[in-house]
Formats: sequence, C-alpha cells, structure tokens
Amino acid sequence: MYPSAFDYFRPSSVDEVVKLLQENPEGKIIAGGHSLLPMMKLRLAAPASLIDIGRVPGLDGIRSDNGGVAFGARTTYDQIIKSDVVQQTLPVAAEAAGVVGDIQVRNRGTIGGSIAHADPAADFPAVLLALDAKVNATGPNGQRTIGIDDFFVDMFTTSLEPEEIVTEISVAKPAAKTGMAYEKFSHPASGYAIVGVAASVTLGNDGNVSAARIAITGAGPIAVRANGTESALVGQAPTAENVKAAAQKASDGMTFLGDIHAGEEYRAHLTRVFTERAINKAVERAQG
Ligand SMILES: Cc1cc2nc3c(=O)[nH]c(=O)nc-3n(C[C@H](O)[C@H](O)[C@H](O)COP(=O)(O)OP(=O)(O)OC[C@H]3O[C@@H](n4cnc5c(N)ncnc54)[C@H](O)[C@@H]3O)c2cc1C
Repeated sequence: MYPSAFDYFRPSSVDEVVKLLQENPEGKIIAGGHSLLPMMKLRLAAPASLIDIGRVPGLDGIRSDNGGVAFGARTTYDQIIKSDVVQQTLPVAAEAAGVVGDIQVRNRGTIGGSIAHADPAADFPAVLLALDAKVNATGPNGQRTIGIDDFFVDMFTTSLEPEEIVTEISVAKPAAKTGMAYEKFSHPASGYAIVGVAASVTLGNDGNVSAARIAITGAGPIAVRANGTESALVGQAPTAENVKAAAQKASDGMTFLGDIHAGEEYRAHLTRVFTERAINKAVERAQG
C-alpha cells in the first residue's frame, strides 16, 4: 500500500527541525525510516509532513565521553557494531545491535529512532535502561536531559514533547567489575524481541553483587526494569542458585502481551529464563 500524501522538509540544523515541528504539528521526524515508513505504508500513521533529519549536522557519530560513550541520535546499528569506542567500553551495545532485524535494518535504523518510537519489541529500550542512559533532547525551550527511567511512558509513547528532537544518548563509564549482557528470544522473521533481557551487574571486592540493573523488552507494552530481580541480587553471591532465584522474580508485577507469536504465560516464562541467562552471562563477564 502507498502512504497518504505528505510534505517533505530537509532541514539543515537542529533549530530548524524544532521550528518545523512547531510549524507542522501533524509532522513527524524521519531518521532511518524503518519504523515510520512501514507504518505509513500500512496507513497506521499518516503524518502531514516528514522532517528528514538525514543531513542535520551534529546528530552523527559515537564519541568517548569522560570514559563513557555518547551516541548521536542518528547513529545506526551498523555504526554501533563497528565502533572501536563501543567495543572497548560498552560491548553489550554492539552485541545488541548485532541482533537487530537484518542487515538492511541495521544499516538504516538509528538509536534515536528506536527510543523515540518506543516499540514494545525493540531492543535498545531495554539495553539503555540497563545502562542507565541519559537522553538529550532539544525543543522550543532549549536542551534538556531525560533519565532513561523517565523516558518510556507507554506503548509507542515517550516523555518527549511533540516539538522535541532527540540529539544524543549518553552512557556513563561503567564501574569497575561490571559485566553486561543482552539475551533475546527473537521473532524468527523480523528479528524483533519476543522477549529481550539486558543485564548490567557490578561485583564488589568481596565478589558479591554490589549493583544490578536488569531490563526487559518485548514481553509487555513498554520496556521495564525488573526491580524485584535487582533487589534480590544485590548483596548476594552471584551463584547459579541465587541468580535463578532472583530471575524467578523478573515476571512479578509485569503486564504481559499476548499475541499470535506468544501468549502471556509463555512470555512470562521466557522473561524468567532469559533473565537468568542474561544475568549469568553478565556475572561471568564481571568476573573476567
Ligand atoms: C523488517 C524489520 C525488522 C526490524 N527488527 C528489529 C529488531 O529486531 N529490533 C529492533 O529494535 N528494531 C527492529 N526494527 C526497527 C528498526 O530498528 C527501526 O528502524 C528503529 O527502531 C527506528 O529507527 P529509525 O531510524 O528507522 O526511525 P524512523 O522510522 O525514522 O522513526 C521512528 C519514529 O521515531 C521518531 N524519530 C526518529 N528519530 C528521532 C529523533 N532523533 N528525535 C525524535 N524523534 C525521532 C520518528 O518521528 C518516528 O515517530 C525492525 C524494522 C524492520 C522494518
């Protein structure tokens, strides 16, 4: 199906993007187009105008940021996979980018588009929750930083204002003895997460877990942190038994989606299983 007619703008600065968003309340930013265009072709979205940020300077690239990593909003999955900075500092981001969709999606899809779209089955919402990322956005009132815990509001809904653009996503330098992992049960055709779990586990000098951030995507309407699992891990020795017991709490209090791909009970089961796998892998990496 063809999308309905739309105006097309190609701004050359972030300020111009914001101005166009103000002037075109029915308009939408387009980045890689790999979420928006399919929705337009299915007529699930019919923006009156597209604001193409493909040539806006300052939105590209990955840089080292005080030992952490800052991703320009237009950074593609492929750029994440190939980045030396990511490989050295946050290899889990490359690990997750490597399991997104297929090569075409990884070449076009962007990290900024992924989080702004807030698809319940997208991978990076969980990864960035586990990494405690910060999102920089610019709007009519200037720039602001949104903590990732406050970013995802509901299915396809974020705390971005309609006239704001995501410009950068940053992750602080991981603490010593931190291991991270992303484990995903993929839809076999699209690659989207039926359930994906990102884990970041820090060990103290005594070898016990001193901090943990565990996040789940695909299972429910939005990516969420597994608070019960995190609390059950902290202070404990990361033994297989303790990890299993903590992972059993991952589905507590969650709302699960049920569809033709997986029912609610199955998604709850996958959530526990993949949480256990992700934590075990993160612990192994933290132990070096
Ligand atoms: C066949 C297929 C398989 C896929 N498989 C996966 C998968 O396995 N895992 C996964 O995570 N994703 C998957 N995707 C989705 C893909 O990763 C998307 O491209 C990506 O999530 C969105 O990025 P984009 O740059 O394409 O955004 P676009 O489609 O251009 O935009 C998406 C939304 O975000 C908004 N937006 C974009 N950039 C910004 C910005 N900088 N600031 C504010 N708003 C912005 C747009 O207005 C739009 O509403 C798949 C897509 C396809 C077509």
